[in-house]
Amino acid sequence: MELIFIGYPGSGKGTQASYLAEKFAIPQISTGDILRRAVAEQSPLGVEAKKAMDAGELVPDRVVIGMIENRLTEPDTKMGFLMDGFPRTIKQAQEFDRILHKIHRRVKIVLSLEVSKKRILMRLTSRRTCPGCNHIYNLIYDPPPQSGVCVGCNQTVSFYQREDDREETVKHRMDVYEEQTRPLKEYYDAQGKLKEVDGSLSIEKVREHIVKILTGLER
Ligand code: AMP
Repeated sequence: MELIFIGYPGSGKGTQASYLAEKFAIPQISTGDILRRAVAEQSPLGVEAKKAMDAGELVPDRVVIGMIENRLTEPDTKMGFLMDGFPRTIKQAQEFDRILHKIHRRVKIVLSLEVSKKRILMRLTSRRTCPGCNHIYNLIYDPPPQSGVCVGCNQTVSFYQREDDREETVKHRMDVYEEQTRPLKEYYDAQGKLKEVDGSLSIEKVREHIVKILTGLER
């Protein structure tokens, strides 16, 4: 299965992708996670990406396209993939189609998680992350354990707020989404691949809806 998630940052792409990755035994490919790892390792890629990421801007297309082209050479992608945060521009989508065409693959379905701006702002500014394993908590409905021991990696850590989850940056990231990423909906709709999902419902409800869509596809 070759699947893409699109939606505002904080719309639940990562959460749903990680569930489906396990269910279908295919990798979740998050360009945000790959970039954050590069930043933590202070690799040349990380150094180049950090400024754009902290400001809530997109990293240049050629950088992320190169990353994805590399990632698709790994054997775990043979049975499919779940793209979480890629593509994010029309240029990336066109290049992605070209890369996939070369290896006789194609995007099968694009799920767009629909969530209001107000809800995104609330979700992201209350998000806290484990510095060890990137497990995500939410101060309102899933607070980090007071013991400081992360449920994801069992380490004692200081949960932190991502630089790009601060209010002004979140607002900017939503503007960037509207300008550069939302046009992808039309791009994939024209290919007959777009499905909209109400992402404001509970994690379980959204998951059920997605599984229903995917089961329908396989029939
Ligand atoms: P995310 O965790 O997906 O919200 O990504 C965090 C940040 O990484 C984004 O705000 C961008 O700066 C950068 N990023 C992630 N994916 C992409 C992409 N496909 N194209 C450009 N920049 C990206």
